[in-house]
Amino acid sequence: MTTDAQPPPSIDTSRAHPARVYDWLLGGKDNYPVDEAVGERLPPEARDGARQNRQFMHRAAAWLAAQGIDQFLDIGTGIPTEPNLHQIVQNVVPSARVVYADNDPIVLRHAEALLVSRPQGATEYIQADVREADSIVRRARHVLDFERPVALSLIALMHFITDEQDAHGIVRGLVETLPSGSYLILSHASSDLFPELSDAVVAEYAKGGIKLAFRPRPEVERFFDGLDLVPPGLVTATDWSAAGPAPVSEESGIYAGVARIR
Ligand code: SAH
Repeated sequence: MTTDAQPPPSIDTSRAHPARVYDWLLGGKDNYPVDEAVGERLPPEARDGARQNRQFMHRAAAWLAAQGIDQFLDIGTGIPTEPNLHQIVQNVVPSARVVYADNDPIVLRHAEALLVSRPQGATEYIQADVREADSIVRRARHVLDFERPVALSLIALMHFITDEQDAHGIVRGLVETLPSGSYLILSHASSDLFPELSDAVVAEYAKGGIKLAFRPRPEVERFFDGLDLVPPGLVTATDWSAAGPAPVSEESGIYAGVARIR
């Protein structure tokens, strides 16, 4: 299942974890009372944000597959929630190859659901932290050909990485490993669209022991520096559609964009 032979990390049910709170927000069952306690205290808009973010992933992944992209590196995968990314892209390109990575042991525990690939394609799961990007790329090379375009998806991940942890440098480093014609898919909770809501969410996660780095638009734009954002550019998750008008007429506090790597 994983390429490193280490004992499986244990699940800590004494404190909240991002993947499990997100699962609760999506209405999933793979969470514990500590996670639910954080979720319950969040403003109801947080549940909308999780759903909107997930739906952005569906649209962006399907669009990239329709462009002929058949290799995906998805870091910060989350607990499997159908449809998962590989199901979406293999529905368009059955031979698509997908490598997932997450640092939460609960995702590893449920990774089997991510590994049910169509026979023509392949999926792999790597237990790793995005801050060990070199190790993720090294292990992903067993499945993905980095001489051909790869879509790197960092969906609702980078707001868990602070500036002190060099969030922008990590993304730049990952992007630099990808050949021309690759893509970056990124979504990120905003601090400036609905500042009071955003402050409330950050404060509740902090009480649960989870540090969030929600960012204002210019700081999210910086993740795309030097890349070519595809239309409609960096917009809210509900406004992102590669084809035509906004698919959902709903406000969203999540920024989302897809960019081509030169
Ligand atoms: N990308 C999925 C899940 C988002 S929830 C989606 O958009 O639907 C954020 C995920 O990032 C969680 O699964 C959490 O475990 C993971 N995560 C948080 N910090 C991480 C880190 N430093 N390295 C790898 N994964 C991380």
